[in-house]
Amino acid sequence: MSATIIDGFTIAASTRARVAEQVSSLKKSGVDPCLAVVLVGDNPASVSYVSGKAKALQEVGMIDRSIHLPADTSEDELLTLVQDLNADKTVHGILVQLPLPSHINEQLIIVAIDPAKDVDGFHPVNLGNMLIERECFLPCTPHGVLVLLRETGVQTVGAHAVIVGRSNIVGKPLSILLARRDCNATVTVCHTKTRDLGAMTRQADILIAAAGSPRMITADMIKPGATVIDVGVNRVSDATAKKGYRLVGDVDFEPACAVAGAITPVPRGVGPMTIAMLMENTLVAAERSMR
Ligand code: NDP
Repeated sequence: MSATIIDGFTIAASTRARVAEQVSSLKKSGVDPCLAVVLVGDNPASVSYVSGKAKALQEVGMIDRSIHLPADTSEDELLTLVQDLNADKTVHGILVQLPLPSHINEQLIIVAIDPAKDVDGFHPVNLGNMLIERECFLPCTPHGVLVLLRETGVQTVGAHAVIVGRSNIVGKPLSILLARRDCNATVTVCHTKTRDLGAMTRQADILIAAAGSPRMITADMIKPGATVIDVGVNRVSDATAKKGYRLVGDVDFEPACAVAGAITPVPRGVGPMTIAMLMENTLVAAERSMR
């Protein structure tokens, strides 16, 4: 068996194209959607994510208010910036790139962002509204995973979804979303204290790997025919690669393809969807600013 490759790159491109059309009509109503992306320091992965976001903003025709601060920016300085962006009516979305340097309390910064501009969907107000199925901004990666499943025609109703990882930005929100009445999956969440991980993952009709551990999901951990969504993005050294490293997922991709029914690659799987959903959230924030 050879798994169908779920092409996140193409699905994300069509999402961005739809967003671009809506941005253009919003501009005719006098609203110019704008996202402020705040980067503190020079973490290489963060620099690369921020440049991916800048490229997407340009493509969909939104204003990119990128702010790059030095690594020694104080917590107070960052809080003041967030408050200024909250008050700025020309800014519709605010994204503070994580992780922040260790002297800054991330939760304090996330909570300081106006929930109406929290296009990352990490503010407790948005997470709470997600839980009780009220209007909110969904976190971009979990939302992107749902769109991938929907666009690929994967049946979630009654399916057993097993998620490896319980972070606040991926595993936990995804578990809530998949269990909601609009997906109706039965969800198991695994983590480092899970006993016999393979016994859990082998039950999955939909297996979602979000652990941040290169190739930890091996072919023998996958139920034949399962849909496998690999959220992991891990840099592994590779002397033959131009940059000296390459990106691999949490799934041991080639052997997994022989067992899974459908699978996302890394790169060109979940990653582009995350950015596409960020564009969509920013568009929605701009539309809501007209209310
Ligand atoms: P975190 O490190 O915050 O969380 C990882 C989770 O995985 C934890 O809950 C941890 O368990 C669990 N875990 C780690 N190793 C194992 C293991 N061996 N067995 C079982 N559970 C394990 O990571 P994130 O959620 O932030 O990110 C996960 C991955 O997804 C990373 O590779 C990251 O780069 C990638 N990512 C990709 C995005 C995209 O757009 N494609 C967006 C965001 C993240 P415990 O809680 O017990 O420690």
